[in-house]
Formats: sequence, C-alpha cells, structure tokens
Amino acid sequence: MTNPDICVIGGGPAGLEAAIVARELGAQVLIIDDNPVLGGQLIKQTHKFFGSKEHYCGVRGINIARILTQKVSELKIETINPATVIGYYDDDSIGVLQQDRLFAIKAKRYIFATGATENMLAFENSDLPGVYGAGAVQTLMNVYGVIPGKRALVVGSGNIGLIVSYQLLQAGVEVAGIVEILDKVGGYYVHAAKIKRAGVPIYLRHTIVEARGKEAVESALITQVDDNFKPIKGTEKIIECDIILIAIGLSPLCDLLYQAGCRIQYIPELGGNVPVHNEDMMTSRPHIFVCGDLASIEEASTAMLEGRIAGANAFQAIFGKNDKAKAIIEEAKSELATIRNSPFEQRIIKGKTKFKQG
Ligand SMILES: Cc1cc2nc3c(=O)[nH]c(=O)nc-3n(C[C@H](O)[C@H](O)[C@H](O)COP(=O)(O)OP(=O)(O)OC[C@H]3O[C@@H](n4cnc5c(N)ncnc54)[C@H](O)[C@@H]3O)c2cc1C
Repeated sequence: MTNPDICVIGGGPAGLEAAIVARELGAQVLIIDDNPVLGGQLIKQTHKFFGSKEHYCGVRGINIARILTQKVSELKIETINPATVIGYYDDDSIGVLQQDRLFAIKAKRYIFATGATENMLAFENSDLPGVYGAGAVQTLMNVYGVIPGKRALVVGSGNIGLIVSYQLLQAGVEVAGIVEILDKVGGYYVHAAKIKRAGVPIYLRHTIVEARGKEAVESALITQVDDNFKPIKGTEKIIECDIILIAIGLSPLCDLLYQAGCRIQYIPELGGNVPVHNEDMMTSRPHIFVCGDLASIEEASTAMLEGRIAGANAFQAIFGKNDKAKAIIEEAKSELATIRNSPFEQRIIKGKTKFKQG
C-alpha cells in the first residue's frame, strides 16, 4: 500500500493502538516499524506492568505486545517491518528503507510514534567496550537471550535503572551497585524495595567519573558529589565490574518531525525537545499527529491512550466527524486525566501546558 489513508511510523504501544483504532473506525492503515517484531519497548519488558487494570496492570510487557500484535493481524492491518523511515520530503511523502530497497509512501495523514532514544553520559573511557545503554542490555538479555557480563554497575536509579538491575539479577548477573547523583532514588518505591532486599547498594549523591580496563571494562571509578554535582576529592571508590549500564533517562526521537517542518519546543518536563501538539495530538502541521514517548516520556499506558486519541483524530481529519471516534477520544482523554492526576505525573501536566501558541 503506497497511498494509505493513515501511515503510522513506529509499532510500539502508542503506534499499535493508533493503528488499531483508526482501522476499527474504517481507515486503511499502514504501520512501519524498524524491528522484526512489533511492540516497541514492550518486547523487552519481562516484568509485570504497574498501573490500573484497564491498562494491562499485572500483565508482562511482552504479553501486552502479543495482545496488540494479535489485534493488528486480526484487523488485517498492513505492516512493513523491519523497515526504517529515513526521511520526510517536501511533497509530504516519506522515504522507507527495507533491506536494500528504498521506496516512497504518501499517506493522507501521518501518525508518528517513534518513541525515544536513551540519554548518554560523558566520562573518561565511556567508549570502552562494556559500557552500555540500559535498552541495549535489555535487548541482549530479554530479546536475544544473551547475558552481557558477570558483574554490573548501573548508573541511574529511575524506574528503568531499577527494573533492568532486577532483570540482571534474575539472569544471574551480579549487580555491584547503583549510582545515583541525586539524594534520593528516582524510581517507584516498589522497584527500589526489591533491589534493596536483594542487597544491592544504592550510592546516592554519587556519579561515575571513569571506566577502567585495557580492552574492555574491568572496573569503574565513582565519587561522591557536592551540592553543585561536582566530584568531592577523596571520596573516590573503585567498583569491580565488567559492565557499566547507563540508565539516565530518555529523549523523544523527533528527528523526522524536524524534517517535516513541525514546530519543536524544548520542554524539560516532557523529556527535552518535543513536537508541539494540541490535546488532539495534532502537530503544528495539521496532517501530522504524534503520540507516546515521542510526545512526552511517560509510560506504555499513557502512550496507548495518546495513540487512541491520535488514531481517532487522524480518522476524523480524513472522513469527517464521527460519533464513535468522538466517544473514543473523550474516553481516552478522561482516562489520561485520571492517570496524570497522580503526583508522579504532575510534571507531564505542567509540560503539556507549556507549548507556545503560533
Ligand atoms: C525498562 C523499562 C520498563 C518499563 N516499565 C513500564 C511499566 O511497567 N509500565 C508502563 O506503563 N511503561 C513502562 N515503560 C515505558 C514504556 O515501555 C514506554 O513508555 C512505551 O513503550 C512508549 O511507547 P511508544 O510506542 O511511544 O514507543 P516505543 O515502545 O519505543 O516504540 C517506538 C517504535 O518505533 C520504532 N521506530 C523509531 N523510529 C523509527 C523509524 N524511523 N522507522 C521505523 N520505526 C521506527 C522503534 O524501533 C520502536 O519499535 C518501561 C520502559 C522501560 C525502558
């Protein structure tokens, strides 16, 4: 299908929900994803999800991916994967690279759901083999069944750092410690408690300054920091490890939106540079919608709800107002408001009100 009604770029929870809703309403939908298996981040998540029952609480991420993928196939939604969207062109078509084939797709509406990229940290020898992003370690262990090393030092105590630490322990990898620059653990108590029960030390107000080793990581030098996050001399510790795992946050993957001429704004609460969008998930270019981590670094539950809103709105933008679409949008917006009412989500509400008009 080279001219679908709606082309969804990214087959994670946000993109899959967007595609399912738009297809159920009656649109011709195409999903393009660069992984061999659909599901985005979910395919790496072997743990049971937190949140509410309506949003798959208690279900393992990998099983949520299976449920959504099953729906995609039942609805006969066309998918092109693994294939990468490599460009957005002046005639509003996109370039798709599949193996050695490059071709163009021109849709009536686009929904970008490309997710996020991991933030990296610069320290001495940070390019030594054995220094990984948390996502790479998760992919190695949970997708390909490869244990990345024997003893890990994790940098960052947000939910990702905590969850991946626990998954390392489950895979038989020793976790030498978690380093956190702030004076408190960033992730949910439930994840931190599991880690503490397993006896993993969490070094608060510490950072990594150097990876050590000849050909690959053999140890890490960490140090305490002062109020300005500067290393305090004399507090250095050497931690023996063969993996250093960086889990210091994610940034929305919005390169294609820059190319498409969408307005981008820096909003720290949403994860950095994000495409400006309204509550219908429409960007500054009305035929382009966004959803999920690309629109704000949050969770799979909110990504799916934003996907539903984007899918129903993209449908209405082509086929006109529709009662069923309206009901889907209202329900998803109300569920989003409930989830974002929690103290953890206040930053998102604040961030989403920061978009400049015009
Ligand atoms: C360790 C960890 C634990 C988590 N635990 C939970 C939890 O318990 N509960 C919860 O609700 N959330 C959890 N999350 C968060 C959740 O996984 C994400 O918020 C969610 O996956 C975001 O969905 P998305 O569809 O926006 O992006 P993604 O899931 O990242 O999907 C984006 C997809 O787009 C593809 N893509 C990107 N660019 C292109 C391109 N140019 N061409 C083609 N394809 C492209 C990507 O490869 C990917 O497949 C966790 C995340 C992590 C990392």
